[in-house]
Amino acid sequence: MHQVDQIYINGQFVTPHGEQLFDLFNPATAQCIGQVRLADEQDANNAVSAAKQAFPEFSRTTKSARVDYLKCMHAAVAAIETELTGAIIEEYGAPVSRARWMAKHAASVLLDAAAVLADYDFTRRIGIADVTMQPLGIAGLITPWNSNAGFICGKLAAALAAGCTTVIKPSEMSAIQTSIVTRALHEAGLPPGVFNIVTGRGETVGTVLSAHPDIAKVSFTGSTAVGKQILMAGAQTLKRITLELGGKSPVLILDDADLKKAIPMALQAGFMNSGQACIAGTRMLVPAHRLAEVEALIVEEMVAIRAGDPNDSDTSIGPMVSLKQWQRVQRYIQIGIKEGAHLLAGGLGLPDDLGAGWFVRPTVFSRVTNQMTIAREEIFGPVLSIITYSDEEDALAIANDTPYGLQAYILSSDLPRAHALAARIDAGRVLINTLAHEPRAPFGGFKQSGIGREYGTFGLEAFLEPKSVLS
Ligand code: NAD
Repeated sequence: MHQVDQIYINGQFVTPHGEQLFDLFNPATAQCIGQVRLADEQDANNAVSAAKQAFPEFSRTTKSARVDYLKCMHAAVAAIETELTGAIIEEYGAPVSRARWMAKHAASVLLDAAAVLADYDFTRRIGIADVTMQPLGIAGLITPWNSNAGFICGKLAAALAAGCTTVIKPSEMSAIQTSIVTRALHEAGLPPGVFNIVTGRGETVGTVLSAHPDIAKVSFTGSTAVGKQILMAGAQTLKRITLELGGKSPVLILDDADLKKAIPMALQAGFMNSGQACIAGTRMLVPAHRLAEVEALIVEEMVAIRAGDPNDSDTSIGPMVSLKQWQRVQRYIQIGIKEGAHLLAGGLGLPDDLGAGWFVRPTVFSRVTNQMTIAREEIFGPVLSIITYSDEEDALAIANDTPYGLQAYILSSDLPRAHALAARIDAGRVLINTLAHEPRAPFGGFKQSGIGREYGTFGLEAFLEPKSVLS
């Protein structure tokens, strides 16, 4: 059994003042695998004090000193890649290939930030003004369970690159992954108080961070509902807020697409990270006259898309992270059936060959309308909706008819046509014939998918404030 009973404040591992214990599970077996002792408000306040004390000196460090720190952190996190991969599989249930990518990503974001920082000019001359980009202050960083290590390292990297000091509140459901990453970051040897890691509940530690007068900036990744609460809490002290929230991303399959290539890619986009991805392409938009072809190909492809043991390299879809998440996904499948969508694959209950664990049958609904609940709300599980369109204008209208705007996909053999369409889609990122990630480009949402951007120069500037000195 894992026992996580320390948090990290002012460069030291300390026992939390909070006494509440929280059970940790292996979602593939539904067995309890350990406990984490949760931090409380007092711990959060202590962490903010440590970050406040560290800020004056750290904010004046040179660019090259911070580049060196980021490189040390990268080396330390890269060294725990195997251990972290194991924890991601055990505690989160990501299939092994995905888990490996996630552990690598947690290290590589630190190196990416070092490269951005090395190239960034903190001062510029505008007319008679010297404009300096100044670190905002203490940053509160709040992460979700679906990529906990990656978000801890990614947010931390951008904040430290800017010269901010930080308090991190990771997801309480990811305490094993957090403890491994914390040990590695400690090894990197940064000054005490520059980063503090306080695992606790959102309503306690998270609430302290979003309201504390000494916190200048909150960077949050999680659900749209919690993002709105953080924005409201932060308004009292006019915090700078970055929100990376939910999505209901469209996958536009154009009528010129080679369906034999497009359908496997669309399924991969939809079932990414076992469907527990904010950027999952969960609304597949297909030309009405090609629906029969699409349905036949999907039925064929679904045979190879298996939910099961995340340690098995043949598994494409791992379990849902929690019983609550499993129940939520079941509820949406039930709603889809009730609202009259056609169940093309999957359905309610556990997959046939699995007797335990929070597994969902990979599910595809066809003949869905964009007004159905399953097309409007983020399900966060392996449940896709096929929606037909009559022509390109109709496809675009359906793609944009959503409260979200995080990501969109266009699959087409006509690149200029796809680019023209991309320009008219309301989403922070549009992927044309690819599922690749570009760590130097800004990432974030339009509409209710968020506020602000992460990664690259845009992500760095989210932790900076310009100051003009005129002479
Ligand atoms: P969540 O909103 O429930 O929790 C996210 C984090 O916020 C957790 O650490 C939680 O403890 C904390 N929290 C909860 N209540 C809080 C409060 N009142 N104040 C401050 N913090 C609070 O989200 P989740 O279930 O962990 O993650 C899934 C959601 O995250 C999905 O909606 C998904 O789309 C979204 N997400 C978005 C992105 C993105 O980059 N846009 C990436 C991954 C996940």
